[in-house]
Amino acid sequence: MNMPTEEKQKRRVLIADDDPVSRCMLASFLAKWGYEVIAVGDGLEALRILQGPDAPRLAVLDWVMPGLEGPQVCQRMRAHPDLPYVYVLLLTARNEKTDLLRGLEFGVDDYLTKPFDSRELRGRLQVGQRILNLQESLVEAQEELRFRATHDLLTGISNRGAVLEALNREYSRQKREGGSFGIILLDLDHFKYVNDTRGHLCGDAVLREASHRIAEGIRPYDTAGRYGGEEFLIVAPASDESGTMALAERIRISIESLPVEAEGGPATITASSGLAVSRGDSPLEPQILIHLADDALYRAKDKGRNRCEIASQPDVILTPPR
Ligand SMILES: [Mg+2]
Repeated sequence: MNMPTEEKQKRRVLIADDDPVSRCMLASFLAKWGYEVIAVGDGLEALRILQGPDAPRLAVLDWVMPGLEGPQVCQRMRAHPDLPYVYVLLLTARNEKTDLLRGLEFGVDDYLTKPFDSRELRGRLQVGQRILNLQESLVEAQEELRFRATHDLLTGISNRGAVLEALNREYSRQKREGGSFGIILLDLDHFKYVNDTRGHLCGDAVLREASHRIAEGIRPYDTAGRYGGEEFLIVAPASDESGTMALAERIRISIESLPVEAEGGPATITASSGLAVSRGDSPLEPQILIHLADDALYRAKDKGRNRCEIASQPDVILTPPR
């Protein structure tokens, strides 16, 4: 039967028990219930598998084992919250309440006292799977929210907040480590005309396609975002004047190269860009940099559009406008 990887992983169980008889019995029950079983005899091996690639998401751990005991395996795993959640069922011969509570403090989800009732074990594993499913939908919902909070929904690229954050991050990095970086403020030419003559659907198609070409044109470590209306901001780490200009030109050419396919026929678009560079020897604050790029953009528009202009380095470091 073909199952998606995620489903498969949830049907896989790790059993860790140093008692071979108990281990075999567990393995045969679980196999009968349709689980794919990985069985090991000590805690260190269990931890290695649970922290490895494609780890099972369900684990049945014996309490007392050589290497690491069940609760310690769990504790070490929980110290890495970035790894996918593993639901842990602890098997124990101990039935002292205080001991069990201690087990739960190590991050164990549930426990079962040996000798266990197979129906109870089956039921508890099903609870584990339900919890895993819930946890997964929660993670998906969080990712969706995070995406919505940082991306522009029309174009799918970073939004203004996210690209400004990238700029601030790059500025802090520069203050610590030096080096130059550039920014590009790009504005689509005559966009209002497109909207007015071809309608907003065409305008949206143009924005989406321009975003796409910008995203394709940047390097993996650059950040591009929609700054406002038809304006985009690109943050280009590790770039001097010529590097930033080369990047801006590449994007400008890709935008003018092909008309955008839109309802009612192709629409030709071009863009103008203003560039500014913060040099390692004289870093410029983000607000000043944007201000300089904006001036350069204005010049590019003034000189006939579909071109890139770079700001000259200011003689004095201005204080950011309030
Ligand atoms: Mg044992």
